[in-house]
Amino acid sequence: MSFLLPCPNCGPRDVYEFRFGGEYLKRPGPDAPSEAWVEYLYLRANEAGAQNEWWYHRLGCRGWFLALRDTRTNAVLEVYRPDEKRA
Ligand SMILES: [Zn+2]
Repeated sequence: MSFLLPCPNCGPRDVYEFRFGGEYLKRPGPDAPSEAWVEYLYLRANEAGAQNEWWYHRLGCRGWFLALRDTRTNAVLEVYRPDEKRA
């Protein structure tokens, strides 16, 4: 199913120009217990609704960014660069 994904650098483009990078997860600290790393590396929420995700614009600017996407409708609610603070 195709939909438009607005790249923060290039604007709205067909989703087939992008690579899905998975759910956004907060990386555990270096001294975190191994259970935190197992959760970070292997467990996914697979949210039915709004979910923060990594995307890579492989046929465009070749930049990584984050998108808040509704997984039920593919509606993209927000896109932002990793260094931008969300409102
Ligand atoms: Zn781009």
